Order: sequence, then structure tokens, then C-alpha cells
Amino acid sequence: MPSIITRPGTREKLAILSTDCQYDLACACGTNEQDRRHRSGEDKWIYPVTLQNGGHGVLFKTLISNVCANDCRYCPLRAEEDPRRCTLEPEETVRAFMDYHRAGKVFGLFLSSGVIGTPDRTMERLVAIARLLRQKEEFRGYIHLKVIPGASDAAVQEAVSLASAVSLNIETPGEAHCRRLSAKKDYMQDIIRPIKLISELARKGPRRRRVRQSTQFVVGASDETDREIVRYMAGLYTRLGLDRVYFSAYQRGLGHADLPGERAAATNRDVLTREHRLYQVDWLIRKYGFEAGEIPFDAANRLSLAVDPKEHWAQLHPEKFPVDVNRADRLELLRVPGFGPTTVQRILERRANGGRVRALSEVGRAGRRLSKAAAYVKF
Ligand code: SF4
Repeated sequence: MPSIITRPGTREKLAILSTDCQYDLACACGTNEQDRRHRSGEDKWIYPVTLQNGGHGVLFKTLISNVCANDCRYCPLRAEEDPRRCTLEPEETVRAFMDYHRAGKVFGLFLSSGVIGTPDRTMERLVAIARLLRQKEEFRGYIHLKVIPGASDAAVQEAVSLASAVSLNIETPGEAHCRRLSAKKDYMQDIIRPIKLISELARKGPRRRRVRQSTQFVVGASDETDREIVRYMAGLYTRLGLDRVYFSAYQRGLGHADLPGERAAATNRDVLTREHRLYQVDWLIRKYGFEAGEIPFDAANRLSLAVDPKEHWAQLHPEKFPVDVNRADRLELLRVPGFGPTTVQRILERRANGGRVRALSEVGRAGRRLSKAAAYVKF
């Protein structure tokens, strides 16, 4: 028997919808590695996030509907499943968000959705909410809209014109993996085409008004390798100028029994570690000056689960160490396992002021990270 909900109230809908995006698989990407899976215990649609400036804020984050016409085999909301389905109306969403915003409890809104009939019908609802907020409520704050795969160019343009940030989940590194996960989604037409269009539109106009663009891979649902993901990720940054790429570990048991991820030897814990390693690689490429081609993989094109990728690279390149803390440039220092941008900045400032570093304790707090660096530096 299908479950039937008779006129659930807004809070009940929010409870259902925010629970359904808890694994960040159902078209709802995280906004930061640290933020993911950390929600308010009570109102699960209230979502603490780390801001670009390193501060913290709270978002109102929800699906507007868990109705979905799509067949993504990793997703518990796919059409063939029978979860409790419901949809928030645009006015209802705006009211709920504005109540929290006026009470000073949230600074912005993150909206996603299952596919209600067609991609453009869904986009109409998402865009209607953003328009009501911008035009009727005169809300000038943060709005993140998730673009639905297969959305038309016109729908993408509207979303970009109203939002502060826009994302569309790429999900897989390439078409072959996409076909393993969905018979309905056309990788090039439904995913890559709108991602490219968002990239073009988001970078128009003055820099201070730029719309941020992100995407997300689902990790471990198909049999994609880490090397494939890293290659695609690097392309998204260098060729399309995306601001962030996120990863969501597929947790076994959520999807269809015939998924490669359901038959793989990796445990759910392994996939979570793999997700963490991919985030570490993302940092190496964005913040530490690594090229995608330098990232170490094993013979099966996987990242090591046992050791972090920067330390793995250092172990494979003994000729680059020890690094002289008092002579090395910023990029050389950043390659030392255990050194992050803050430690490197302290070293450079001390040197710029005419000082020398004689011990690691002068530039950082004693701990596992700093003691790791000891094996790779000299003074
Ligand atoms: S489009 Fe795919 S991932 Fe998104 S809600 Fe529907 S089935 Fe799930």
C-alpha cells in the first residue's frame, strides 16, 4: 500500500523533506566538508555552515519536494521507491524561511528538489521562491538554488539571475558511470550542458556580484576510480572555473541492489574515508599548489585509505626533503606534511621580520600534525 499523507502542515513537510536530504544524495549537496551531516537536533532544516571568511552561519536548507520522476539508482527518493512524499508550496516556503530570518536564526536559504514532473516545472517552483524573496520580501541575502538536471537554458538563466550561488550535481566522472546510475539522465545534455551554461553566466558581470557555482560527485555508487574523479574535478576548476566541488559517500543499502557500490568489497566506513581523501585532494589542488597529475594513486587508481595524499606524495618523493624552513619558498613549505597555510604564513612572516625559525614549536602548537612535519624539515 502506498503511504498517503493528508494535508501535512509546513513543519511536518519540513521534517520529512529535511530528513530525506540527510545523506546529501538526493540532489542536496553539502556546502562545506565540515558542515555535512551536522544538523540542528530539533529543526533538521536549520543547518550550520562555515562561511567563506572562515566564520560560521546558519542556513535554512531543504528540499522543496521529495516527489521525483527520476530513476537515480543510488537515491532513496527515486520514482520506484515509496517514501512519504510531499511538496512545499512556494508561498509556504517563503513564509517559513522569512519567519526564521526575521527571528535572526538563519542568514540564507539553500533549496533543492526532486523532479516534480519535469525539470522545468521543478525549476519554476524553485525560481518562484527566489523571486518572491527578492521582489516581494526584498530579501538581499544568500540564496543557493540547486539546478535540476535537464533544466532548459531559460530556467538556468533565471536561477542564475536570482541566486547568490547555483549548483548542479555532476554525480559521476563521465558518461559511462552515469549510465550505470540512471537510465533517464543524459550525461552530456542534462548535466554537462547546464553546468557549462551556469559557468558562462555565473562569471558575467562585476566580480563582487559573481554568482558562486559548485557541484557534487556521489562517491562509490558506481565503480568509478579516484583517479577519474580527480581528473574531472581538476577540469571543473581549471576549465569551467567552479568555486567548489563536493563529494558525497554512497552508503550501502540506500540504493538499488544492482548498483556496483552494493557489490563492492568496500565497507561504508571505507567509502567515508575515501570521501575524506577526495576532500584532502581538493584542498591540495585549490590551496597547496598541487597539480592533479601529481596526486598519488595505487595500481587500481585509488587513493590510499591508510595515509593522507600529501604525506603519500612526500613518501614517494624523498628527493624533495628535508625542506629548509628558513630558505624554502611558500609552495615548498606547503608541501611539508603537517604544514598548513597558517603555519606557512607564520614562518614567512617571521622570516620577513628578520627572524629565523629554530624549532617547530615557534610556529605552531605541539601536536600530531606538527610532529609529523619534523621528519620532513631542517633548520
Ligand atoms: S533526481 Fe535523482 S538524486 Fe535527485 S531526488 Fe530524483 S532520484 Fe534522487
